[in-house]
Amino acid sequence: MSDIISERAKNIEPSITLSLNTKANNLREAGEDVVGLAAGEPDFETPDVIKKAAYKAIEQGKTRYTPAAGIAPLRKVIADVYSERLGLPYDASEVMISNGAKHSIFNALYVLTNPGDEVMIFTPYWVSYPEMVKLVGAKPRIVELSADNDYKLTPERLESEVAKSKPKVVLYNSPNNPAGTVYTKEEVRAIGKILHREGISLISDEIYEFLTYEGNKHYSPVSIVPELKERTVVITGVSKSYAMTGWRIGFALSGSEVIYRMAAYQAHATGCPNAISQWAALTALKEAGKDRDMMRDEFEKRKDMFAERLSTIPSVTFPDPGGAFYFLADVSAMYDRCGVSGSGEFCEKLLKEKGLLLIPGGPFGCDNTVRFSFAASEETLNAALDRFESFVEDYTG
Ligand code: PMP
Ligand code: GLU
Repeated sequence: MSDIISERAKNIEPSITLSLNTKANNLREAGEDVVGLAAGEPDFETPDVIKKAAYKAIEQGKTRYTPAAGIAPLRKVIADVYSERLGLPYDASEVMISNGAKHSIFNALYVLTNPGDEVMIFTPYWVSYPEMVKLVGAKPRIVELSADNDYKLTPERLESEVAKSKPKVVLYNSPNNPAGTVYTKEEVRAIGKILHREGISLISDEIYEFLTYEGNKHYSPVSIVPELKERTVVITGVSKSYAMTGWRIGFALSGSEVIYRMAAYQAHATGCPNAISQWAALTALKEAGKDRDMMRDEFEKRKDMFAERLSTIPSVTFPDPGGAFYFLADVSAMYDRCGVSGSGEFCEKLLKEKGLLLIPGGPFGCDNTVRFSFAASEETLNAALDRFESFVEDYTG
């Protein structure tokens, strides 16, 4: 029956992060002894104050279609909160709400690219970026960055890539999934200036903006180079910061023309974001700052504990994550000894022999690595490290 599938659809692979997370949950539900560090989502409950706002929205009958770009009070609060946070003014007409940050990125790609345009993506990249670029008919251009420089894009590298050919859009993500890279103010300034000078559009994925550790601070490119505002779409949302992944609310901020087109596209593609979740997100932004900070503090403790143990395991190297909730570890020194040829086989073997589920780095563009999520309880993290240690021991000496 493959003749009924379009060439376009045949080109798209399922999301490895979502499918492996489901696999870990299914195996556990089936009673298998599996520990999974696959989840790219907080393990915390959504804070009570947010849940209550959703119950109230249902009771009050706020259950109908909303405007395509989202409810006015939420657009206004996002505009106010982010004008202050980003340090430059955004009007409510320059903000829109979608079904998760993923959806916001997709809408932005649709509006900023013509078929065949290049979108520059840097390794290690979040698995959905290249697929989304292909979905809108544009072309992903992958630029490989090195662990030696904490997977950071340098201004020199950007200059040399742009000199080869100028992309239509750069897709940038800090704090980064999967390596936890966070750019400093000066690094952001240098990159932002080049993008501005070259007239390249920017999609800045800042979904992990509140999750930074050890004095690392998040700087949005538009805060540091405000001239970028009109050609930049800032993407964020409530999923990671407020433990609201399943509520599916993301935001985009840009110039009003870009937002107008993104909303027009969304109006026909999905109608509007979930009404109840929008009211819950409004309460998250207004009332759940303490809960957000408490979860961040907890992630930092886990990160420190995890880094301490992981760094004692031989044959494994990793940059210390400055943000998000992942470690991207180079495990390729073990491939020969384990008899595997890449990260996918490595993870399969680890699951089969030790019941530990990690995400292979291949789909992030780094086949020498695996991704550990530390969005799990200390108990789960320690159990995972016990299993990983034992696996490494089996294949060492
Ligand atoms: N960007 C990155 C880098 C992510 O890791 C995720 C995780 N899902 C998203 C965007 C999408 O977030 P959301 O769940 O709000 O769609
Ligand atoms: N972004 C998360 C991850 O990388 C969640 C899953 C997804 O949406 O891809 O695991």
